[in-house]
Amino acid sequence: METQNWHNLTPEETLKELATSPAGLSEAEVEARLEKYGPNELQEKKGKSPLKMLWEQFTETMVLILLVAAIISGFLGKEVETIAILAIVVLFAVLGFVQEFRAEKAMAALKRMAVPTVRVRRENQVQDISATKLVPGDILLLETGNIVPADIRLLEAANLRLMEAALTGEAEAVEKSTEPLDKADLPIGDRVNMAYFGTNVTYGRGTGIVTGTGMNTELGKIATLLQEVKNLETPLQKRLDKLGEMLALLGVAAAALMLIIGVVLGEPLDEMFLTAVSLAVAVVPEGLPAVVTITLAIGSQRMLKRHALIRKLPAVETLGSVTVICSDKTGTLTENKMTAVVLQLAEQRIELREPDFSPSSDKYYKMALSIAATCNDATLQKQGDEYTALGDPTEGALVIAAAQAGLQNLEETFPRVDEYPFDSDRKRMTTVHRVQENAASPIPPSFSDTDFLAFTKGSVDGLLKICNQIRVQEETEPLTPEWLQRMQEANNLLAREGVRVLGLAYKMLPELPRNPEAELEQELTFVGMVGMIDPPRAAVKPAVAECREAGIRPVMITGDHPLTATAIAADLGFPDTGDALTGEMLLPLSDEELQEKVKHVSVFARVSPEDKLRIITALQNNGEIVSMTGDGVNDAPALKKANIGVAMGITGTDVAKEASDMVLLDDNFATIVASVEEGRVIYDNLVRFIRFSLGGNLGKVLVMLLAPFIGIHIALQPLQLLWLNLLTDGLMGLGLGVEPVEATTMQKPPRHPEQPILYGKDLTYVLWFGLLIGMISLGIGYLYFDPENHSDTTWQTMIFATIAFTQVGNAFGLRAEGYSSFSYKSNPLFIWLSLVTVGLQLLVIYLPVLRNIFGLTALSPQDLAIAFSMGIVTFLAARLEKWRRKKQLVKH
Ligand code: ATP
Repeated sequence: METQNWHNLTPEETLKELATSPAGLSEAEVEARLEKYGPNELQEKKGKSPLKMLWEQFTETMVLILLVAAIISGFLGKEVETIAILAIVVLFAVLGFVQEFRAEKAMAALKRMAVPTVRVRRENQVQDISATKLVPGDILLLETGNIVPADIRLLEAANLRLMEAALTGEAEAVEKSTEPLDKADLPIGDRVNMAYFGTNVTYGRGTGIVTGTGMNTELGKIATLLQEVKNLETPLQKRLDKLGEMLALLGVAAAALMLIIGVVLGEPLDEMFLTAVSLAVAVVPEGLPAVVTITLAIGSQRMLKRHALIRKLPAVETLGSVTVICSDKTGTLTENKMTAVVLQLAEQRIELREPDFSPSSDKYYKMALSIAATCNDATLQKQGDEYTALGDPTEGALVIAAAQAGLQNLEETFPRVDEYPFDSDRKRMTTVHRVQENAASPIPPSFSDTDFLAFTKGSVDGLLKICNQIRVQEETEPLTPEWLQRMQEANNLLAREGVRVLGLAYKMLPELPRNPEAELEQELTFVGMVGMIDPPRAAVKPAVAECREAGIRPVMITGDHPLTATAIAADLGFPDTGDALTGEMLLPLSDEELQEKVKHVSVFARVSPEDKLRIITALQNNGEIVSMTGDGVNDAPALKKANIGVAMGITGTDVAKEASDMVLLDDNFATIVASVEEGRVIYDNLVRFIRFSLGGNLGKVLVMLLAPFIGIHIALQPLQLLWLNLLTDGLMGLGLGVEPVEATTMQKPPRHPEQPILYGKDLTYVLWFGLLIGMISLGIGYLYFDPENHSDTTWQTMIFATIAFTQVGNAFGLRAEGYSSFSYKSNPLFIWLSLVTVGLQLLVIYLPVLRNIFGLTALSPQDLAIAFSMGIVTFLAARLEKWRRKKQLVKH
């Protein structure tokens, strides 16, 4: 579509220009336009090119060390070694490249999943579609929390306010209207009848005609500026880089020591130099960067399978350290499937679910349901004999209850003329209606003598504060302290049953209020309250228990009534549900007092988004790592402040999702716990790899450094060292990085985020197993070494084979104990890679060409069996250590 000054046109002219109507486009027309204008996407700046990715592999420090080694061996005339080292470089580079490529692919797929859905009207039907499918001429519906998905000319703006900072830099939200503007060259910020791609709806509701999509929008014009994709390195990656550097230094030190020892023993300098370089290479865990990348990427895919969409990669590892999970109630702990079950009037309680429920002619009770269904944005739908509703489930339950009582099409009797939308600070909403004579649904007599009516529904406690009258049957009475108390008690009674309660009230207006915010929501007449049930989600109770076992505290932070909240929290197994704190009680507390309170309070009720922010801050000041859920626009600051901001995938607004680290695709609390578990698995796997790799490397270093002292000069040739390194670090390590969940994963306390990667037991493990592998291999070498017969290299082949097999044994011993150590199903990659490792090892020993290059001797079956059994010994030792750890954990 030609860029136009849409803001100068009237809505009608815009509709005509774009060949559309308020009923929307036909599906055929949408197809044609999609074909013509393309999908509604900003063209992404290309990610890293594969070539660049490959180049980066060759500039890694570890690879650089290898390259230097290759050049040196070249100068020393060792062609075979040079070629071997180069082959290793290429192999590692390819390995690193493949991993990174896969990781990038996985991230791109995650990004695609994050495309929002939008609500449009097509063929006179409201439907939800992917934002990429929007075309010019579409009729778009906007509501609070949406990120505007295209440029639109507004047709309707009900208190619509937009935050346009992304485009204009203006930090205040702008009030929108629909009137055409006169001036042609207005700056974007002044085109108040337009809503632009990338801006946020912070308040109100509206509809509009899509005038531009994708790159053909104002944002598209400047999109190149915004598309710097930040490739965040996670804190763990940074720490592992440090570890890598430290090991490189250690490697150089070991190499220097080796060189000195060799020279003192009178070995030729060039030989020794090569040996020293190979030893340095052996110390460095080359596989580490690849393992980290792939572990994080595969981890985020595993989380996706469990319905958690990671938006920021560092979240994957922070999840493993979470100590407090703060969660909303509605929809996260409960199903968000509301059913209105009781209507409490001044003097009467009506069970709405009674099987013999028949619409009574009682005007008074119909009046209450009329308010509930009119002050409402949900749309009633009928499927067969069943009523369903589109929109907020709370509101849906009300229109359904009204429909079941025979109340439908109420907007014909009470056309809406103004509204004061719901927000979670006020916890209520108000709509203003004209009272109109209508044959289809007659006006209730009590409302027939006023021209305008305001209907308000919201939290009962708040509503009673702004009411001064109460409806008692046909009469209106003053809301005396007695009535107030009776109503509060009725409210508490319902709330204690775990029922969600909404109050209903009205106000007769002689004329349209000029200043709705000042004139509405005061001096109302209270009519009654509706109680609705929202069953707890089945998966939540076990998830809460799992959470507590894992040393994580679940906390409920809800906008609902404290009694409703504690009833549900107790039902779900939350700790200490006796002491709920409400937003009102939080207010007078100082930050220090709050910090003390949050140590044991499990239920915060009637809180506002600002309270959420205070609660998180207090928890964080106590040293907690906090995960916090949110769905509304106002939740964005809390989501950003939390260590893990979790947005709701189904009910969450685009703004909340944008601010989050992770999106729950099923809105389920259990999913948060599942992703914490995955986060822990990822960390455990990295530590597992490091324990494996460093233990083996230490073993090799010990063999090399100590061999001269037992009469063996140089235990392993450079080529043999490099080969062992490639097999174990490269292949086995990679397989270990993707182990499944362990039985103990969620029985341990959370890991402190600053905790060093290797400490305590893990460090001792590395030392012990390094020693074990080193001593076994040296011992075997010693037994086979014959000082008289230098041409026989059986002893060296035995060391070579023993190191390989003990490493394989160690890897099997280190596996997660979710399944048995040899389970194929839990991690096929690992089993395949170990078979390949053993196969390759046998190949170099028994295939004559390779055997000669590597300077080995073919082992007799007995000797091979001895080397292999050393692997079994290491496996058993590792398993024993694991068993001991688990026992200790259980004891704690
Ligand atoms: P949670 O924070 O756990 O999701 P919630 O859904 O009750 O709980 P809010 O959506 O902030 O939290 O709602 C707070 C209160 O506002 C509710 O308890 C109810 O009294 C009132 N309320 C909720 N939805 C509406 C609505 N559509 N219209 C009027 N009042 C509402």
